[in-house]
Order: sequence, then structure tokens, then C-alpha cells
Amino acid sequence: MTVDPQRRLRLTVLGFSTAVPHPASPASGYLVSWDTTAILLDAGQGVASRLAREIDPRDLAAVIVGHMHADHYIDIAALRYLYPWGAPAARRLPVHLPPGGRDRMTALAIAISERDGFFDSAFDVAEYDERTPLEIGDLTVRFARSQHFVPAWAMSVETPDGRRLVYLGDTGPTDAAVAFARGADLLLVEAALRSTADDDTIRGHLMPDEAIDLARRAEARSALLVHFDPDRTEEIAGMCAAAGDWIRPASAGMTVSLVESPGGVAAVLTP
Ligand SMILES: [Zn+2]
Ligand SMILES: [Zn+2]
Repeated sequence: MTVDPQRRLRLTVLGFSTAVPHPASPASGYLVSWDTTAILLDAGQGVASRLAREIDPRDLAAVIVGHMHADHYIDIAALRYLYPWGAPAARRLPVHLPPGGRDRMTALAIAISERDGFFDSAFDVAEYDERTPLEIGDLTVRFARSQHFVPAWAMSVETPDGRRLVYLGDTGPTDAAVAFARGADLLLVEAALRSTADDDTIRGHLMPDEAIDLARRAEARSALLVHFDPDRTEEIAGMCAAAGDWIRPASAGMTVSLVESPGGVAAVLTP
């Protein structure tokens, strides 16, 4: 399988679950494509094999990791095993990590009993700087710092025709997150918490009602709640339905396309 060329922004939810393994979904992984450019946002556990159902992972234009928690990047190691052992790959997969991420990859190679440079022969590893947007194929990716337990970044993926998908990653409820998400055509917002008592004093995650409120304040045109226990899907679907038909919970394998409609852009589920 190769990337299906469509000149519309398309999202496939590879996984949306939390760090706790669940049979219904891998952890965080979002495949975003435009025409022949496909990028993977986050690579939590279970994402690499689920990605391979959609495209050959070696056809990705890039992988971008928002923060270095296992449920957002550990399957980077799994992706490496798609590449040869000896000679460098014919085309190395561009992997964009947060500042400090390169050292973490070196430590990961040691932790999984692999040699020095294990990732370098397959990946073109770079650390992004939030002041400098990335140009990947036809897509532009911008970053903004999130409020989380470790350094973490939200991402905005922008198409040549001005459409925006914003993925906030893991974040507490902040005005900065609202500002970064403002006017997103499609917003992915986490809803990890069952209780604010489970969070730190300086908040690092969102309750579902906070996630819906954040998306509403940001005036997102459409939104998916992500990063929740799949057992809560029905409960969260009810909360979303009460807020309107512009927001819904994610499910693994769900594909959303942004299409032009008489009232502007619309997010439609596509088979
Ligand atoms: Zn995290
Ligand atoms: Zn997380």
C-alpha cells in the first residue's frame, strides 16, 4: 500500500488510548495526509503495526513526536526494525523530536540492547525548535509548548489551502492551548482524566468536560476527544452529543476528511 493521493486533509486515528494497554486501541498515533504527503504524529505503543495496515511506514514523509512519554513515542523502536541491519537505508525516515530527544534515542538504543547508532542508519533524527515551523512536503507544521509533566509540544498541521489540524498532545487546561487551537478546522484534544484529583497541582491533563470547553473556547470547527480509556467511550460520546455534532470521541481506525461545503469546511467521516 502507498499513500492515497487526495488533495484534502485526512486524518486516520491509529490509536487514541492512554498509556494503559487496551484491546480496543493502541496508544497515541495519528496519521495525517494531504495528497501524497503523509506524516505520523506520535508513535505510542501499538501504533507501528496499526500504521502498517494503512500504508507502508517507510512511505511516511516524517514522524513527529510531541513529547517523550512512552505512550507517545515508544513505537519509534518498532519502526526501526522495518529497516536493514547493515547498510544505511536508501531513504532514511525523517524523525522530528522535541529538544533533547536525540539523547533520549541514544539511551533507548542502549535500553533495548542495540548498538550505538542503531537509529541513525534508518532515521534522519532532528530536534525541532518551536520558533521554526517545519516544511514537510506540502504541509507546514508549527509548534507550541504545552503544560505537561515533562516538556511537551502541541502541533498545528497546515495545508497549502489554509486548512489546519491542531493536535494538542498532553496538556493541562490553559489559555495558551486555547489560543494555539483557535479556529482549527479539526482539533484533537485529550481527555485523559477521570478526576482532577489524579492530576498535579500544575495541571498536566484534561477532564472530558474541560476538553470540550477548551475546544468550544477555541472555536474549533470540528473536534475529536482523544487519549481516554476506551471503556469510557459511551460516557464521553454522551458529553460530546450534549455539546453539539461538531465534537465526538475518537475511535481506533476512524478516518476524518476535511471537505469544502456550502457553509465552509466540514469534517466528514470517511470509510
Ligand atoms: Zn504525557
Ligand atoms: Zn499521554
